[in-house]
Amino acid sequence: MTTTVIDSPAFTPAQINLIKQISIAARSLSLGGHDDFNQGQVSARMPGADTFFIKNAITGFDECTPDDILQASTDPEAPKDRLLPPEVVLHQAVYNARPDVNAIVHSHAPHTLVLGATDLQLRAVSHDGAFFEGRTPRFTMTSNTILTLDVAEAVASALGTYPAALLRNHGGVIVGKSIRHATVYAHLLERACALQLTAERVPGGYHSSDEGDIAAKREFNFADLSVRSYWDHCSRQVHRLLPLYASGQVS
Ligand SMILES: [Zn+2]
Repeated sequence: MTTTVIDSPAFTPAQINLIKQISIAARSLSLGGHDDFNQGQVSARMPGADTFFIKNAITGFDECTPDDILQASTDPEAPKDRLLPPEVVLHQAVYNARPDVNAIVHSHAPHTLVLGATDLQLRAVSHDGAFFEGRTPRFTMTSNTILTLDVAEAVASALGTYPAALLRNHGGVIVGKSIRHATVYAHLLERACALQLTAERVPGGYHSSDEGDIAAKREFNFADLSVRSYWDHCSRQVHRLLPLYASGQVS
């Protein structure tokens, strides 16, 4: 069931492009502070597909290349490649629960993790927070690594229809309709949490955007065209600071 780009001529050009995007997304997440050794995952699927592509268990976000991406089934009962991450079940549960989701990031990004450990509600301190206010439920059933389908389905249930969930004392799960959206949202969430945690320490408190501004920001700052431009910046930054291959094979 599982294979890599290198040894499978079976992938379509669109699938190979998606695999390249996942490896760029992984490196972008690294540049955004999502590294925790080789832990965390980024995955994506073609819309409607019953398989998806995911970074393997042993590779860090910072060093991911297309050859480190594996294909997996959305069926938790399907045979598993031994290099699939143990938390692949989380991705399977979310894809099965959310037909609208075509990409998932799970990381232990520090500010996301710390805000998740508190009882604070994410507020619209910045543009980033405006995207998430009222849309980041907390998963509190366990803080352990997600290894079983029942726990994974409980995370998917906690996530509901939202773009992200905070996993208390563990990290975050961020989803999107494309690899571009999920990656940009993961950056937004980490920045939103970092800025709020900073604001929380300021004596005298802080203000956050009102409902009207939040609606306006969601309509403009996070429209598909804007997300596309943020992703394009992420991609350029990876090629500039953490290129996949010195020869520039992946574009
Ligand atoms: Zn984890």
